[in-house]
Amino acid sequence: MPPHDHFTHYDIFMLSNIRVVLVQTFHPGNIGSTARAMKTMGLSDLVLVNPRAFPDAEATRLAAGASDVIESARVVTTLEDAVSDCVRVVGASARLRSLPLPHYDEPDTMATALVEDSHHDKVAIVFGRERYGLTNDEIACCSHQVSIPTNPDYGILNLAQAVQVLAWEVRRAWRCQSRGNSSRPTEERSPTREQMIHFQQHLSRVMHMSGFITQPHARTEAQLQALFARAEPSRKELSLLRGLLASLEGQIDQQP
Ligand code: SAH
Repeated sequence: MPPHDHFTHYDIFMLSNIRVVLVQTFHPGNIGSTARAMKTMGLSDLVLVNPRAFPDAEATRLAAGASDVIESARVVTTLEDAVSDCVRVVGASARLRSLPLPHYDEPDTMATALVEDSHHDKVAIVFGRERYGLTNDEIACCSHQVSIPTNPDYGILNLAQAVQVLAWEVRRAWRCQSRGNSSRPTEERSPTREQMIHFQQHLSRVMHMSGFITQPHARTEAQLQALFARAEPSRKELSLLRGLLASLEGQIDQQP
């Protein structure tokens, strides 16, 4: 384990690859408390999707010494914009959804995977609204889900406190991770969400062209999407699948 306070620039760089995304936060105070929760754990990349009120005095007040995190926060209009450059996007939710995305029951397993990817790529943890969390469409933008295993009788944390718990798990995993031995060839790395979305669009096109799907069928597409999320293909495997789709597409085009 690295000794306290002896982190290299490289270690700090890894933490800067780990993003926190808040979706449509209602209370600006939660944005401030999130910034503070992040900075205490060494995280700095905050992205806000359609916050109700931001910038806001209450957010700045609750951020306390973490006002730099607030000041550098980016505001975007869709979750897709917030995470398309990330290779692992973990939606935090207290409840399980019907969409069978890979699910981390233990936050430390999630944190270890995130930290591993952060050597080379951007990753994100996504938090939902205070009132109703994340929608199914938003969960579909994620590659994984995580739940904090809380009291089953009363298991929903305040938004910023959920950020604190998961940010701590990330820091713990980061402190434990051995350094300098993780170089992975690009083709073995996970694809970005954007590359996954292009693949899904390609698959969908071929399914329609071939007549496999004759009308818009969101459920079939969501099921296949979940299958590929569970398979966690590498960039190389994804390009193999893209090649396969392109060749099928070519065949379909030539049919009378
Ligand atoms: N009422 C909402 C919960 C909102 S709490 C619902 O039922 O979904 C705000 C956010 O905090 C959630 O969207 C989630 O990202 C996070 N959160 C709260 N409790 C959590 C838990 N036990 N595990 C993981 N994330 C949690």
